[in-house]
Amino acid sequence: MGAVKVLESVAALRVQRAAWRVAGERVALVPTMGALHQGHISLVQLARLHATRVVVSIFVNPTQFAPGEDFAAYPRTFEGDCAMLAAAGADAVFHPGVEMIYPDGFATSVEMRGPAVAGLEDLVRPTHFAGVATIVAKLLIQAAPDVAVFGEKDFQQLAVIRRLVLDLDLPVEIIGAPTLRDPDGLALSSRNAYLSEAERAIAPRLHACLARVADDLQKGGSAKRLLDEARAEMTAAGFAVDYLELRQARDLAPVTQKSAGPMRLLVAAKLGRTRLIDNVAVDL
Ligand code: AMP
Repeated sequence: MGAVKVLESVAALRVQRAAWRVAGERVALVPTMGALHQGHISLVQLARLHATRVVVSIFVNPTQFAPGEDFAAYPRTFEGDCAMLAAAGADAVFHPGVEMIYPDGFATSVEMRGPAVAGLEDLVRPTHFAGVATIVAKLLIQAAPDVAVFGEKDFQQLAVIRRLVLDLDLPVEIIGAPTLRDPDGLALSSRNAYLSEAERAIAPRLHACLARVADDLQKGGSAKRLLDEARAEMTAAGFAVDYLELRQARDLAPVTQKSAGPMRLLVAAKLGRTRLIDNVAVDL
């Protein structure tokens, strides 16, 4: 197992990208904030199926955190991340400093409508997706990948990025990857490290509840009743629910009588100081 090549500047990334272009390689980018777990590794494995070279970016992006959120506390485990990526067969890690991405005088932000303002994450984190869209646009321009892989775990983010790439004519194929879960159903997340032992025992109920509601919806149950009951059940279990909503999967538009096609059930809830998000498919 070779060590993974660490690229700390945009210039170094571009030199590597140019060499791969000359060699006819197909390049995948997997953007992350580090503190890697098997969910991230599953993205690297999927990327390897679509490309001959895989670059993983590790950058805790300050502009997608609001004041008072966990930017400073966000886990940073760079050495361990590199070892995991080497074992997974990633070719390079792009690991820029904040001043490399946002130098003095930085003045541009990618502001979006559509999925970025669907009334889900954006209700609680109104500046979040401008930060996400800006960093992802920069990473896609810097790395110029043929494909980029993002997790369905962050379903609204995936919709935002698909829209961003269409709107800016970025020449990259976006691939969505299924959510990797612990055996008890809890979606893997770097933030699960914040959970106490007691909270970790409660946390899987979020996905259990989602899965049951999805099943009941597919059997023809009333969405309003099922969602109201599920919110009450989550609250009784100890979650502070930010939202639990059924949306059209394609663009996250609200579901109406006339809606057809795949739907998505999305939730965000706090358990103690840890904010958990999750979602499941609903095929009506
Ligand atoms: P993050 O480091 O949290 O920004 O996540 C980086 C990428 O990994 C994003 O595209 C996430 O959607 C994805 N991801 C995070 N958790 C999981 C998971 N449990 N399964 C699959 N992908 C995930």
